[in-house]
Amino acid sequence: MFVDIAKIKIKGGNGGNGAVSFRREKYVAAGGPDGGDGGRGGNIVFQVNDNLSTLADFRYKRKYTAPNGQDGSGGRKNGRKGEDLIIQVPRGTIIREVESGAVMADMSTDEPFIAAKGGRGGWGNPHFATPTRQVPRFAKDGTPGEEWEVSLELKLLADVGLLGFPNVGKSTLVSVVSEAKPIIANYHFTTITPVLGVVSMGEGNSFVMADIPGLIEGAGDGVGLGHEFLRHVDRCRMLVHILDAAGSEGRDPIDDFNIINKELEKFDPELAKRPQIVVANKIDLASDEQLETLREYFESRGYEFYKMCAPINEGTQEIVNAIWNKLQTLPPIKRYETEAIPVEMFEKTQDKGFTITVRDNVYFVEAEWLLKILQRCDLDDYESLQYFQRILVSSGIIDALHEHGIQEGDTVSIYDLEFDFVN
Ligand code: GDP
Ligand code: MG
Repeated sequence: MFVDIAKIKIKGGNGGNGAVSFRREKYVAAGGPDGGDGGRGGNIVFQVNDNLSTLADFRYKRKYTAPNGQDGSGGRKNGRKGEDLIIQVPRGTIIREVESGAVMADMSTDEPFIAAKGGRGGWGNPHFATPTRQVPRFAKDGTPGEEWEVSLELKLLADVGLLGFPNVGKSTLVSVVSEAKPIIANYHFTTITPVLGVVSMGEGNSFVMADIPGLIEGAGDGVGLGHEFLRHVDRCRMLVHILDAAGSEGRDPIDDFNIINKELEKFDPELAKRPQIVVANKIDLASDEQLETLREYFESRGYEFYKMCAPINEGTQEIVNAIWNKLQTLPPIKRYETEAIPVEMFEKTQDKGFTITVRDNVYFVEAEWLLKILQRCDLDDYESLQYFQRILVSSGIIDALHEHGIQEGDTVSIYDLEFDFVN
């Protein structure tokens, strides 16, 4: 079964904890603090791999966790960082955050994408030594890695998509005009994973043709091999609709054409408007009258109409040229823009509990929902900072700090963030 959509959980590694430790030397009763910092957690990184053509790998493995950073230890020994976990996906995979539906990345280029950052390592106790606090008996824990549920959806990057019922000759066309070698066989649904063929036009020009699995009636309603296939033509700049001109399997090519276009329309009206040219294949089996009927039908409806006998390459060059000419007039392949995951989402949906721990006038605030917001907020940005401050008030954290006896100038520590308290 061909898999082109998947939902997985990803989690960056946690940062290692900072260490509390004091130097021990001969004849020295109590040395200075020497606890090492924790190592950072590994990131979850997506990367395109052109040897992959489906998302089948994600069918059984649904959870990906990058390794944690190691804790720091005495003697200022810092913890080792967690390695990044690389997840390979086929080119054209769209990554979305599930809850908001926001597009995190369109994996169309070779650029790796960090989808879940590893947590930062916590500071060892030397960082907390001050003239008035020479024996800091605390260090900082590492921050947890980012955690997301993401959906992966494969949207092929092809200039041209081939449409047509099973057995009309789509795979045969791709095999004769490109270097790709899809399986060709006289039974339905031989094409179960899409095959991309590069059609060379000379002088360094080329376009990509996608042989996608055949459509069947009812596909638009999700019957049988339905939406999975329609989704593939989503990014195609144009479609080539292939017909069995001879109706060699007892079907009528004009009916076939209309059935598929109705399915397209049902699935996505935008898709049905994509430029289409019509190609009658198997002309060796068709009569002149059959071909003339088809030509009249399609040309009178404004379609460019071509004939071919794909296995012997007859008529195919003319079709390739027609496709190339049409492509010159069409916009480039659609790229999905990345969208911000709305931070407000975490404010609304999560349990807003928090804990406050006080050590040596440092007020440590911990809350999972707040961490998520912090991970997403750019606090160098004035508006984000304002937003964050508003949340500290509205969630009751500021009141709670007062209850714990915080004074002007004391330090507030919220995961990575540290600031002096001002009333
Ligand atoms: P697809 O399901 O649309 O990909 O169709 P295929 O390319 O796999 O072709 C289905 C069958 O039709 C194969 O047995 C081909 O050899 C045969 N075929 C393809 N084109 C022609 C043609 O122009 N004439 C004839 N007689 N058979 C063809
Ligand atoms: Mg095929």
